[in-house]
Amino acid sequence: MSRATRVERDEFVDKAFEAVGIPLIRFENKRNYILSEVKEKIDILFVGVETSMSEQKINLSDNEEIPICPKCGIPMVISTAKAGKNAGKSFYSCSNCPKCREIIRID
Ligand SMILES: [Zn+2]
Repeated sequence: MSRATRVERDEFVDKAFEAVGIPLIRFENKRNYILSEVKEKIDILFVGVETSMSEQKINLSDNEEIPICPKCGIPMVISTAKAGKNAGKSFYSCSNCPKCREIIRID
């Protein structure tokens, strides 16, 4: 795709998302994502908004690489189990949770 075509497409996508009121986060297409970069982008969207995402504690170092959900292909987020035998333990859950129940344990 030529550069001009790409820019045109990006503008179209921006406008389309703006029209329907969905916040759009752009991520570089790469195998792994830097947690701090992803968090920064998501934080901007959810400033002042009470969501389950704001409850999630991010305790890993800034350069920790976060996994991608094998089902959705999107970055996963750190969650902490609130009940059950794993209560208090952190794990990765899909950003689509509760729609997608993929989790990755952190040992
Ligand atoms: Zn998923």
